[in-house]
Amino acid sequence: MNVLGIESSCDETGVAVYDTGAGGLRAHAVYSQIALHAEYGGVVPELASRDHVRKLLPLIRQTLAEAGLSTADIDGVAYTAGPGLVGALLVGAGVARSLAWALDVPAIGVHHMEGHLLAPLIEEDAPQPPFVALLVSGGHTQLVAVEAIGSYRLLGETLDDAAGEAFDKTAKMMGLPYPGGPQLAKLAEQGVPGKFRFSRPMTDRPGLDFSFSGLKTQVLLAWRDSDQSEQTRADIARGFEDAVVDTLAIKCGRALDAAGTDTLIVAGGVGANRRLRAKLVEMCEKRGGRACFPRPALCTDNGAMIAFAGALRLAAGQHDDAAIRAVPRWDMATLAAV
Ligand code: ATP
Ligand code: MG
Ligand code: FE
Repeated sequence: MNVLGIESSCDETGVAVYDTGAGGLRAHAVYSQIALHAEYGGVVPELASRDHVRKLLPLIRQTLAEAGLSTADIDGVAYTAGPGLVGALLVGAGVARSLAWALDVPAIGVHHMEGHLLAPLIEEDAPQPPFVALLVSGGHTQLVAVEAIGSYRLLGETLDDAAGEAFDKTAKMMGLPYPGGPQLAKLAEQGVPGKFRFSRPMTDRPGLDFSFSGLKTQVLLAWRDSDQSEQTRADIARGFEDAVVDTLAIKCGRALDAAGTDTLIVAGGVGANRRLRAKLVEMCEKRGGRACFPRPALCTDNGAMIAFAGALRLAAGQHDDAAIRAVPRWDMATLAAV
């Protein structure tokens, strides 16, 4: 079954085709609106919606061409129904649902975070549940116990900033251009470890929640009181990255203990971070388990994860009615089991 996946929850237009048979991920393409929003220093919702309108149909044509398929080969359509920006969601949902109607194939609205969560399973040698998922993106930092696909129990989450948000805001404070997260990580490569040491928030007491906003303030004060040289900026970036990575690793270890498993899957944009990947692999190997990640391009927003998550549900016989669904706020714990 060839499932067309469409992602438009924020500032990336993503399209992919996932084949539940031997074909696997047949093609995927992402158009990022980063340049469009850069001058505003953040995503402008109305501009995002309008750009999805411009980019979505050409991207669908391009992706089908790359897969060597025509619309007649599509057996189902999956789209991001939420959470996200309502106008941006409506663009993808409207196109996806209409296309499914015209082709007379089933459609399904996918939860964006379930898409992120399942992305590691697109890769070779994918683990089977039970496992713990660490979701670290621009809007979420969550630890989720996964008993079965579709059955998600929240173990802990951030009380303030998401990990990706903390990367972006910290980068901005030190004058890096928007969006700063990946650039801060790049800069940290040149930083001297241990030159600046920041706290590992909320690791000194039990619990699986996170808080990253205080860390941001610590960095602000360190940067303000420093010589603000290039090397200092890199040293602070390294200190910040190490604090976030250590904190995430400590909590992941505790979450594995709580869930009684040694398998961790990691997804969301911060999952592309090299030091985080290395640290979590090491932590899991020490306990005789493993940490699994999607390739970096499937950590950030993409259509492949939506095609894949939708394909699992469509293959299990689930689908939606003819309504165009856009759900800006949506709790993953309410999802049906697959
Ligand atoms: P959500 O999925 O919660 O709605 P989102 O879709 O905006 O949020 P993603 O696209 O998954 O988030 O990830 C984007 C985030 O990942 C940004 O905050 C970005 O700074 C961060 N990020 C991307 N690459 C890296 C990296 N190498 N190191 C650290 N952070 C990174
Ligand atoms: Mg984005
Ligand atoms: Fe996302």
